Amino acid sequence: MNTKNIETDCLIIGAGPVGLFSVFELGLLDIKCNVIDILDKPGGQCAELYPDKPIYDIPGIPEISGDGLVQALLRQIKPFNPSFHLSRIVTELKKNDQNLWEVKTDLNETFITKVIVIAAGGGSFQPKKPPIADIEKYEEKSVFYSIRDKKNFNDKDIVIVGGGDSALDWALDLHEQANSLTLIHRRKEFRASPDSVNKVFDLIDKGLISFELGQVKDLIGNDGVLESIIFKNKDDGEEKLKCEILLPFFGLTMKLGPVADWGLNLNENLIEVDTEKFETSEKGIFAIGDINTYPGKLKLILCGFHEAALMSQKAHNYIFPDKKITFQYTTSSTSLRKKLGVI
Ligand code: FAD
Repeated sequence: MNTKNIETDCLIIGAGPVGLFSVFELGLLDIKCNVIDILDKPGGQCAELYPDKPIYDIPGIPEISGDGLVQALLRQIKPFNPSFHLSRIVTELKKNDQNLWEVKTDLNETFITKVIVIAAGGGSFQPKKPPIADIEKYEEKSVFYSIRDKKNFNDKDIVIVGGGDSALDWALDLHEQANSLTLIHRRKEFRASPDSVNKVFDLIDKGLISFELGQVKDLIGNDGVLESIIFKNKDDGEEKLKCEILLPFFGLTMKLGPVADWGLNLNENLIEVDTEKFETSEKGIFAIGDINTYPGKLKLILCGFHEAALMSQKAHNYIFPDKKITFQYTTSSTSLRKKLGVI
């Protein structure tokens, strides 16, 4: 495979919401960005795990779906024309003899950059799979670990397995369009937000969602098309249930992947940063969004946006060491409005 060198001021690892907003904040300071992601599309968790679900705590936006937020961020960063490099994983990171960072990907590219922004969320997140024989034969046909287009589930017999936020939120979301929706969990207690738990119990009481205490054991179907499942019930007996779509939500394995080998200070697989600049233990490498940790950290999109703004100020020092930043508002600064293409 041919090697390819790409020079840039700033390389952002991770095209989740926080990585995307960094392009905006850095762009206002004239910093051009290249953005890498393992996924084949920008948006991180919002695009991959909950594109249709509404988010209610983005400041100034009372309600927006995961996908809606990603599309809005892509519109917002358009004036800065970032280069996206999707479907590749960053594997290696080292400093060269000119004091620049060299970042390699599994596609044999080398990015040479002054600044790195790690916005890698939970790392390369993978769904935890339930221990059911031959489940992989049904994946992406009848078994889904994330939902890209919920229209595909219209009028289907759906079984959701799990007791966390994803399981309950999708049960609430899908029950109206399903032919039937059964929630299976091995305990009576759910580990989800109290509001979702109350709503699900209410729908179970009304007979609009069925609930079974148990564990899925076997899948019955042909050529990846599921017909029914066998589950072990609370009395240790086995029951058969009609099922065309199985949605196991057992959480994600937060595989930090190669990030763990880059010599940065870690705390329980998260990257330690200061709260002034969100810089890591290596100068010129920043970590923002879900991947970082500091006292009081909240894994919220709005916190990641704040971190992106402060990180950009310090990143500017590395890229333009002789230039001083003048603090400006987008509402009143002619130069910022020119950059945004609104004058
Ligand atoms: P992510 O969104 O995780 O994006 C990180 C990106 O980095 C991913 O695309 C990943 O593929 C990529 N990546 C990782 N490692 C590498 C590598 N080595 N090379 C290349 N690419 C890499 N937050 C809220 O504020 N409000 C909510 O209502 C809300 N609801 C949620 C509902 C659900 C079901 C879930 C799962 C999360 C919710 N969150 C919510 C949390 C929110 O989605 C995260 O805080 C946010 O996505 C973090 O953004 P990020 O950009 O830091 O990381």
